[in-house]
Amino acid sequence: VTRLPIPHDYHMHSAFSVDSQVPLGDRPAQALALGLREICITDHCDFTPLEPSRGYYRPADYFAALERAREEFDGRITLRAGVEIGEWHQFPEEAESLARAYPYDFIIGSLHWVNDHDVMQPPYFEGRTEREVYEAYYTELLKMVDHGGFDVIGHLDIPKRHGFTVYGRYSDVEFEEVIRAILRRAIEQGIGIEINTGTARRPVGTFSPTLDVLRWYRELGGEIITTGSDSHRPVDMAYRFEELPAILAAAGFSAITGFERRIPYFVDLGS
Ligand SMILES: [Zn+2]
Ligand SMILES: [Zn+2]
Repeated sequence: VTRLPIPHDYHMHSAFSVDSQVPLGDRPAQALALGLREICITDHCDFTPLEPSRGYYRPADYFAALERAREEFDGRITLRAGVEIGEWHQFPEEAESLARAYPYDFIIGSLHWVNDHDVMQPPYFEGRTEREVYEAYYTELLKMVDHGGFDVIGHLDIPKRHGFTVYGRYSDVEFEEVIRAILRRAIEQGIGIEINTGTARRPVGTFSPTLDVLRWYRELGGEIITTGSDSHRPVDMAYRFEELPAILAAAGFSAITGFERRIPYFVDLGS
């Protein structure tokens, strides 16, 4: 197996997520076959009442399954413990107690719900202009980052996943001011961002976020960047990772970030 130029996939799901059927124990062998050296299985944990995933996540069982996989694959691949928590700022007590109760390496903070709507589903867009949709989302995301508590912002421009189909376009540049405010606050809080390649599997066809946003983040002094496929199926892991070295270089990054017990470390892309 050739080693991938990007050795980490830090965003994927297993059957501990309501929307994935992949047994956690299958993930390490899939990753090894692709040439990954390190993965983080970031199952969904949600507290939002309308979210189907609410109450589904079982952290103790997740950690038991992860420990079994760590023993089985010891010395062959690094398996980080992760979770993708939705709307942290709206459920701070629940989120913080989960983060404290278990030895997570890495926590993605994602915003999936705005004004009682899932931002990936059609009803969020009904009767609303493109500007209203994205401004409401980014304003809420700024609140979430301002609260903090997690390690990276998940799929920063996620409403485009369906918004592209509704409006026939998406441009980060039109929301530069609020996105820069989010990035600035993230940097102050020690929060990084991820490049999520999963959005490129949808009609929008681009990674989340795009090169523009990666450049702004770097320009503002941002250094923490993880790479994730958001795979929910046995396939899709490390999706289009071969394109990432050029994008990272164009944005001014020479390293990607890994996390151990919530502490970031850097992996040089030249090595
Ligand atoms: Zn997500
Ligand atoms: Zn995800």
